Amino acid sequence: MGEIFTSLQGEGPLLGRRQVFVRLSGCSLGCSYCDTRAYLRRTEKCRLETAPGSRTFVDLRNPLRVDMVTECVKLHASPEVHSVSVTGGEPLEQPGFTEGLAGELKGLGMRVYLETNGFSLDLFSRISKHIDIAAIDVKMPGTVRCSRDLCDRLVENELACLERSSELGIYTIAKVVVQQETEEHDLERICCEMPSVDAIVIQPVSGQIMSELKLLALHSIAARHIGAERAMVIPQMHRALGMM
Ligand code: SF4
Repeated sequence: MGEIFTSLQGEGPLLGRRQVFVRLSGCSLGCSYCDTRAYLRRTEKCRLETAPGSRTFVDLRNPLRVDMVTECVKLHASPEVHSVSVTGGEPLEQPGFTEGLAGELKGLGMRVYLETNGFSLDLFSRISKHIDIAAIDVKMPGTVRCSRDLCDRLVENELACLERSSELGIYTIAKVVVQQETEEHDLERICCEMPSVDAIVIQPVSGQIMSELKLLALHSIAARHIGAERAMVIPQMHRALGMM
């Protein structure tokens, strides 16, 4: 476990909703744009915000049990909280823990929002019954440090997770991080295989300038495949707002 705190969702169609963030540490991918590098490896300690929004933290020694993390989340629970964001790192790299935690939170009547890179359909399926909202990455070529073959396999798994998620009635968000170099034909190829999801979010890499023309072109591709209502360009907002 990396950190537990309250903030506003800074990405995608749930932008601005208040959430309790539960960040697991550890992720095996090496995305060029990763903004949680401090949590790519398992951390010795988890920092827990002592009261919602206080930005005062205490350290808890890992590993934490599911019941301990559930108690931490309860400290942050309030009627204004929309959902609990289980994020990373990569939550599916700790499937037993994530399944147990999501089940506990669901049992307490909380909505569970899973953020994942979707590297494994089996692991996603294992926890899917506890998930209300899934934000699943679709990695564009050139954004993950791996061979084209491995990248293609990753995308296959991501698309399969999106399909399963959608079939199960989970509110399903496909998150596609793009940059100026993103090739339109690559997005076209991915969108051709994209299942029917609730939203495709084109998210420009934070801190990079992209031309409006490029963003419009990428948006058009997504909109043609999924419909204008469900295709959107939304930048990350938490940094712009100076939030965690
Ligand atoms: S999948 Fe997410 S956490 Fe993992 S390296 Fe990529 S951006 Fe970072």
